[in-house]
Amino acid sequence: MNTTDLLFGELSSFLSQAIIVVIVAIMFVISLRLFLDRRKKGYMSMTISLLFVGIYALLHLYVLFQDIHTSLTSYALQMLKIISFVLINMGIYQLYNRTSRKQYIFFYGLIIMGFVVSVLHFSVPNLYSGTEQQLRLLQDIGLELYVFVLIFLCFYMIPPYIGQQLKYQMALKVYFFYQSVHLVNAYMYNDDQHVLTFAVNVLPIVYYFLLFMLLFERVVELMQAIYNSSITDGLTRLYNRKFFYNRVTQHVQRQMPVYILFSDIDNFKKLNDTKGHQMGDNVLKQVAQIMKEEAEECGIAGRYGGEEMVVMVSDPSVKMDAFAERIRSRIEKETIVTASIGYSKYKNGLSAEELIKQADEAMYRAKTTGKNKVVKYA
Ligand code: GH3
Ligand code: MG
Ligand code: MG
Repeated sequence: MNTTDLLFGELSSFLSQAIIVVIVAIMFVISLRLFLDRRKKGYMSMTISLLFVGIYALLHLYVLFQDIHTSLTSYALQMLKIISFVLINMGIYQLYNRTSRKQYIFFYGLIIMGFVVSVLHFSVPNLYSGTEQQLRLLQDIGLELYVFVLIFLCFYMIPPYIGQQLKYQMALKVYFFYQSVHLVNAYMYNDDQHVLTFAVNVLPIVYYFLLFMLLFERVVELMQAIYNSSITDGLTRLYNRKFFYNRVTQHVQRQMPVYILFSDIDNFKKLNDTKGHQMGDNVLKQVAQIMKEEAEECGIAGRYGGEEMVVMVSDPSVKMDAFAERIRSRIEKETIVTASIGYSKYKNGLSAEELIKQADEAMYRAKTTGKNKVVKYA
């Protein structure tokens, strides 16, 4: 064995396929795990498509290993290449979308078109007489060119519907280069150009690696989304009570100077009764948005209960009275409700619970002394 073999010879094709098998096997495990966990159809197609890619790569390995180059194996390889290409791209589409019947027809139609094109494979021998090598190339040309059609279709049809568009398009560009180089090498140089052979072996690895990264990023995105929904409130998108409370506890335990602002919408029950629950929900969202905007640079905002919202201000330079007053007046001006607000300041020895309770008490004083005002805990 020498370096030339390793980089450019039979061995290099072997190595390349072996690396692809490993990458695909890892992707397979990830998507199978996703499917078992969430039972979503999309993950099942991804899993099945990876199975096809795996079979394709293994068959490729086998053909290389046994050195069998019959018309049938080359046909099987080509069809597997087409099927796995379509399925894996469908799998990527499904990572981000529900698939309707229309889309299934589109993707399966592409595969069926592949079979139609492949009829050429069997009709050529009757029309042509030449060397076996030339015959083989002629037989394959239909499907080889069809791969370009698939690449272009995927390149323009899929990206608008998925995340990570650039990475996906990059992967398809790599595949486009691979297919072009492969054809030039096969049809013009009889697979004999070292540099081209090298590229033909390396580019698919890059392609599958990019797809792996895409899948991996998607898993991270999903995990992030699950985490985000576990710490936020579904209606207002503010932090939920548990997360807010834990954050306050962290600050208090480190004896950091924080303020807690506690707000409660005035006469909210009446609004629900007179204008409906939907209207009530919309107002909640508006008020929450104001809280979020105001808290953005100095702390965090949370939804403490039904129409009770809280802010932890962790920036000591904030003038609390003006801050609370700005929130109150924005609610009054920008929504159809008003709010009563209380706030408290952290002092050594207070627990998170006590600190929040003080702000709540101040808010209660605002309620009992006329509503729509700010009261500082004293
Ligand atoms: P006060 O000025 O004394 O605060 O009067 P209030 O009516 O706002 O007080 P109360 O706490 O009795 O009523 C709160 C109401 O908020 C009760 C409930 O119907 C409503 N509410 C709580 N959560 C939601 C929600 O998610 N959506 C809607 N639309 N209403 C909610
Ligand atoms: Mg209330
Ligand atoms: Mg209220």
